[in-house]
Amino acid sequence: MIDIKSLYFFELENFITDNGFPKFRAKQISDWLNKGVTSFSQMRNIPKNIIEFLSGSCYISVANIEKKLVSRYDKTVKYLFCLNDGEYIESVVMSYHHGYSICVSTQVGCKMGCTFCATGKSGFSRSLTASEILAQIESAQKDLNIRISNIVLMGMGEPLDNFDNVIRFLKLVSCEDGLNIGMRHITLSTCGIVPRIYELAEYKFALTLSVSLHAPDNATRSRTMPINNRYPVELLIKACRDYFDITGRRVSFEYALIDGENDSEECALKLANLLKGMNCHVNLIPVNTVEGTGYKKSGAERRNAFVEILSKHGITATIRRTLGSDINASCGQLRRNTLN
Ligand code: SAH
Ligand code: SF4
Repeated sequence: MIDIKSLYFFELENFITDNGFPKFRAKQISDWLNKGVTSFSQMRNIPKNIIEFLSGSCYISVANIEKKLVSRYDKTVKYLFCLNDGEYIESVVMSYHHGYSICVSTQVGCKMGCTFCATGKSGFSRSLTASEILAQIESAQKDLNIRISNIVLMGMGEPLDNFDNVIRFLKLVSCEDGLNIGMRHITLSTCGIVPRIYELAEYKFALTLSVSLHAPDNATRSRTMPINNRYPVELLIKACRDYFDITGRRVSFEYALIDGENDSEECALKLANLLKGMNCHVNLIPVNTVEGTGYKKSGAERRNAFVEILSKHGITATIRRTLGSDINASCGQLRRNTLN
């Protein structure tokens, strides 16, 4: 069966004409798909023979709401979506003064095994198709009756471990016939699969690359992020510098402050040294407590001292506000609780 919502418009057109139907039907079908129909029989201006053909050869990806949690504090909404094959994924919608932002999943689970991450702890099931990444946005927009303006690929999964589908998603979501969300409003987060960072750079997308660094040296980073054994810090930082040179886009770094693990003054100094002279931004996040990890958030004093050391060395850093703290808004936690 063909995943019809993952097709580019020209592919849909070819598919329709190759099967002996008139070209203009492709545009009509595409319009229905953009309206969010979940079955071909809802396409009212399409003749029966084409509906039958589509039903027999294609499927429409859905993300059905299985659970929805709304934060009492800040209106953050977290969804547990159920896919066509019964797998569960999570997305989070956040409201900012400049609009709505959605954090989408790119895989069911993750292979990377970072020790602080709820997704990493629940293992890997499969990668998502482009249409399944899109479906999360469409379902949330429909449910909340809003238009989402920003996307972060920071939900479950490692986007660069699902490279081709993610590239397809990025092209589909940003095109005029689709949701038309510009690349400048998209952030892709990676744990640091170095060769794929170079591959991504070649596309010269105007998106923001966000690298989950979380430690300034190999000893500390390898303790929490197994990927560091394959692509150590020096290679990763070199790739980030090269990414900027190739794309002209400033890279941002995620750094989850974990009490007693990576939040010392020495770590801050090493980080400042590592990023010296680089056009970048550091997002410091108090680590979200995940059951069974034993990690705790750093205290306010430690966090402030960390930022101060960075800024003294010319590195811009902000402590990120945590949204949805009452609904376990960091991804992976809801699916994990559902599976248990
Ligand atoms: N796999 C990608 C994107 C998904 S994870 C990546 O690792 O970048 C999205 C972000 O959440 C990453 O920066 C990740 O390191 C961070 N993260 C995971 N678990 C966390 C936790 N318990 N507390 C704070 N941040 C966490
Ligand atoms: Fe995977 Fe990212 Fe979680 Fe690491 S932090 S296990 S790469 S989702």
